[in-house]
Formats: sequence, C-alpha cells, structure tokens
Amino acid sequence: MSEIADFLTAQYDRLEALARAVADSPGVGVELYGAPDEARRAYRQFLDVIDEDYVLADIESKRRILARHQPREMGQRAVCSNCRPVDPDAPSDSTSVIWPCPDVRDLAAPFSAEPGYDAERWAV
Ligand SMILES: [Zn+2]
Repeated sequence: MSEIADFLTAQYDRLEALARAVADSPGVGVELYGAPDEARRAYRQFLDVIDEDYVLADIESKRRILARHQPREMGQRAVCSNCRPVDPDAPSDSTSVIWPCPDVRDLAAPFSAEPGYDAERWAV
C-alpha cells in the first residue's frame, strides 16, 4: 500500500466502525431541541437516506475504487496502476498518471481536515 491508501483505509475503518456501532444500537435517535420544525424535518429526512446501511455501502464502494488504483513503480516514480489517459498520439507509459492519481486524491478530499492528510501532496 501507499501512504494515501493507508490513510484512506484508516478513515474507512473508522467510519465503518461508527456505522456498525449505530447499526448495533437499535432505538437510538436524534433529538434536535430548539430547532425549527422545518430544520428537524429536513434533518430526519437526511438521516433516513444517510443511515448506517448507506454509509457501509458507500465505504465498500470506495474500498473497491481504492483497490483498483494502486501505485506501480515506473523508473524513478510511481504511477497509478489503473489510470491511463487515452492519447492515441502517444500510446506509451509516458501517458501514465503520477501517483496518487486524481481519483485517489478525490477519495481523500472529504478527509482533508483529518490528522495525517497531506494537503501538499494530495490536494485536488
Ligand atoms: Zn488511478
């Protein structure tokens, strides 16, 4: 693995544990004291969609995306094993995408405020 893959795996492990803890706690709800009715209704609708099943499915899909994009050594640099822009005029390794590729950097972007996020190298 790579630093960014390790970072993302740690984030997914954390979110998965949180979602499983919620799933294992039936009957737990959220009360929004003092919030206007409209805000409470909107928040409940949001939680109906963004529930633990959604979070677990989302994490699994992102783990599959990450698994398809791994660093591959090419000379002095690492490139993505999956990303290769189509350039019919230069169909060679020169069209490979430097690691971490934009897809993996996009996967990391939601965690940019977390400790360990390397904004200098991973920012989109
Ligand atoms: Zn890639």
